[in-house]
Amino acid sequence: MKKVVRTFLILMIAGTTVQAQQSKDSVLTKLITLRDDYVGKIKAMGYKPGLKLPPILLDNPRSFGNYDDSLNVIHTCYWPTLPPEGRAVFNNFAEHMGNGMTGEKFFDLAVYQWIFIHELSHWWQACQNFKSDPYETEKGANRIASAYWNDRDPQFYKFMLGVFQGVLDHRPSPVPPGVPKEKYLDDNYQKLPGGDAYTWYQSIMIVEVSKENPFETFKQAIQLAGKPLK
Ligand SMILES: [Zn+2]
Repeated sequence: MKKVVRTFLILMIAGTTVQAQQSKDSVLTKLITLRDDYVGKIKAMGYKPGLKLPPILLDNPRSFGNYDDSLNVIHTCYWPTLPPEGRAVFNNFAEHMGNGMTGEKFFDLAVYQWIFIHELSHWWQACQNFKSDPYETEKGANRIASAYWNDRDPQFYKFMLGVFQGVLDHRPSPVPPGVPKEKYLDDNYQKLPGGDAYTWYQSIMIVEVSKENPFETFKQAIQLAGKPLK
């Protein structure tokens, strides 16, 4: 009897491990497919990217996504190992959305689609030697990501835009009175990635980009490496 129970437990544990492993693999497969779509579109425009395709690590950076230009690597997250405070961010958004949204589902959309394409856009900026202040660099990555999603899946773009507009509607600005928001980010960039202030900054950039006229196509955004059309 004892032996049967033990065997059962071992099988259960082995089963869980295999499942978690497959799931990590399926995440990587999904991200690689998206990365290859993004890069494939760039190559179809006639570009030869100056950097190798960035490998993808599921190691939970504080900002939920990060392109490390010194190593040419993209860091992203993995829900099963994401610390509780990270999960709480997505659970909290999902609670306010209703309509059957869950924290994990919103995490998938925000991290594996929106933020991942944002980080790939930093990779493209690095390929093109785009150099600017942190605010303009961030806004540029948001400009490219917005154009990518608006071209590929306007419904998803509108959904995310609604999320970012909601952040601006419900959360106070972290910028001290009298200081231009661009300068405050540039001066505090090393301290900010991750956390509410950083989410507010990403949100205001994305909403501002959405109002730019004309709104860039993905092709234009790629050609300009995230710079504004005018
Ligand atoms: Zn960024």
